[in-house]
Amino acid sequence: MNIILLGPPGAGKGTQARKLVDERNMVQLSTGDMLREARRNGTEMGKKAGEIMDRGDLVPDEVVIGIIREQLENDNAGGGYIFDGFPRTLAQADALGRLLLDMGENLDAVIEMQVDDDVLVDRITARATCKDCGEVYNDNTKPIPADGKCTNCGSTKIERRPDDNEDSLRTRLMAYYKQTSPLVGYYYAKDDLKSVNGLASMDDVAASIAKVLG
Ligand code: AMP
Repeated sequence: MNIILLGPPGAGKGTQARKLVDERNMVQLSTGDMLREARRNGTEMGKKAGEIMDRGDLVPDEVVIGIIREQLENDNAGGGYIFDGFPRTLAQADALGRLLLDMGENLDAVIEMQVDDDVLVDRITARATCKDCGEVYNDNTKPIPADGKCTNCGSTKIERRPDDNEDSLRTRLMAYYKQTSPLVGYYYAKDDLKSVNGLASMDDVAASIAKVLG
């Protein structure tokens, strides 16, 4: 089964993707995580992408499509793929459709995580993430443990993303509405769209997704 998690920054895509990985043996393909890794590794592409990411703008289509193509060519996802943060433009959506077709694979569902814009600013500015395993913390609902160790993997590398500040978030939200939200209509027209309430608790959102996936 191959699915896309669609929603604005802070909708909970990464959190739900990680749950699906644990429960269904699927492979998470997060272009944001891959770009951050390229940046940490100091590659030319990573450096260029890093500047764009800090502003909150989108990295060029050909870069992210290239990254995803490479992953699909080299990976073997028995349980299927969860596309998290990709596609983000119509060109990326078309490219993904072609890549899956070439592989003889289908897209099974596009899950739109619906949230109120008001909560996104609060969620994102309170967010911290474990660099090693991706566990997400929130100053208000799930604070970083006092000993600074990740509850999931024990790592002490719990960090705030440089783009998780209010200025970048406004740009990221604008990019979402201008470039990514047309995908809601695109996938609705293809009869692939399923919407869930992303404002519910993490477990309730996971339950809604499980229901949709059957
Ligand atoms: P994310 O971790 O999904 O919130 O992505 C962080 C940042 O990486 C975004 O704000 C973009 O700058 C960049 N990025 C991630 N995925 C994509 C994509 N599919 N297309 C363009 N830029 C992306």
